[in-house]
Amino acid sequence: MAMKAEIISVGDELTSGQRLDTNSQIISRRLGDLGIGVGHHTTVGDDLADNIAAFRIAASRSDIVIISGGLGPTADDLTREAMAAAFGHSLEFRPEAMEHIENLFKSRSRTMPERNRVQAMFPQTSRIIPNPHGTAPGVDLEVLVKDPQNLDHPSRLFALPGVPAEMIQMLSQTVEPRLIEELGLGQQRCFFHSIKLFGIGESDVEQVIPDLISRERIPRVGITVSKATITLRIAALAASEEAFQSFIQPTVTQIREAFGEVIFAEGELELQDVIHELLDRKQCTLSVVEVGSGCWVGQMLSQGVEPSNLEGLKHLAWHPELPPLSTTRSDANPGESNSCPWIDLALQSQQRHQTDYAMAVGVYPPNSSLARESALPSTELQVAIIGPGKKATLKTKLVSGHPELFYQRLAKTALDLLRKELLGE
Ligand code: ATP
Ligand code: MG
Repeated sequence: MAMKAEIISVGDELTSGQRLDTNSQIISRRLGDLGIGVGHHTTVGDDLADNIAAFRIAASRSDIVIISGGLGPTADDLTREAMAAAFGHSLEFRPEAMEHIENLFKSRSRTMPERNRVQAMFPQTSRIIPNPHGTAPGVDLEVLVKDPQNLDHPSRLFALPGVPAEMIQMLSQTVEPRLIEELGLGQQRCFFHSIKLFGIGESDVEQVIPDLISRERIPRVGITVSKATITLRIAALAASEEAFQSFIQPTVTQIREAFGEVIFAEGELELQDVIHELLDRKQCTLSVVEVGSGCWVGQMLSQGVEPSNLEGLKHLAWHPELPPLSTTRSDANPGESNSCPWIDLALQSQQRHQTDYAMAVGVYPPNSSLARESALPSTELQVAIIGPGKKATLKTKLVSGHPELFYQRLAKTALDLLRKELLGE
């Protein structure tokens, strides 16, 4: 059976929402790197009884428990006391911990307040986790408790300070080596491979590959959706990246075959990165005209790009010679480039900026005829793309969504059409 871990974050500042618990995220990722799955994140305030209960529950259901916070010298720092009380140990004085704390104060030319003595108190049988840069040493305690079936269950608890920098240093210098050497973990770590899709819904994805999404499957495939982009995340334990890649190959092939060109990237790339890659590969430049889209296409395309590298990309937010919206409708003959104002706009931009490609993005307000036909408020997006041979394409899509997502969805829809156009030649 694989080891299962639990992470406990302690502090009123966390439970009251004043501060975000970032330690759990960091610790979870680090444990994942060692092949240790995390079953629970628990956050508990600075209350002795609640801490005792949380530690007992965690020890009974998890093999490894990593606690952060509450190791300070003040009265609201209760982790040491709660650890001892939870498992019937008493606290004992550790001179070597005291010496470190005193030295730390000396190194800062300060006298040690009497309160800091409590930081040298440790639950009996526990080991010290050195904290080179802070006064709070950590606690490493092995306990034998009853699991939910009332069977004997060993659990290993590591308590670290809340200060993220100290916590991380102690995790890598002491906790991880102990997990590897003493518990034999880390021979395998968890690897991930992401496949990104655009233009398909989450439930459609599930319908296409129901067998892949099953939770029992190895390698596991998870679906996450963020801002209209779907990520399929393949995860498995493996001894090396190479072993992982060959192990997941059949799954990757199955996904590629099932989704085809809906897949825009694998790995960490976003749609705009793919566009830049395609343009680079073709040694082509692009100009964009946006009307009514909040300039999100341009924003996305320039994201993460050095301003000095943007010369291949000409972006015009508003075209001064744009005809009034009422006359820019193109339902008549979208195929005929000379009859369509959006294609004309793209053509003008291509000529003016001397680019290989030009894209004109236009958004109609919800009262346009197409948008009126949809049951929910939606907006009609028109995308005209002109390629090097003056080859023109015009696409119309209805876009809707919460304002937080709407513009991203709109821009991504336009970028995805551009991607397919760039791929198609
Ligand atoms: P010390 O008192 O020696 O600094 P401590 O173990 O008592 O260490 P806390 O007092 O609980 O730690 O927290 C110290 C700092 O770390 C605070 O600024 C706190 O907000 C921050 N912190 C604590 N827990 C977390 C957490 N889970 N995620 C992010 N920051 C945290
Ligand atoms: Mg605290």
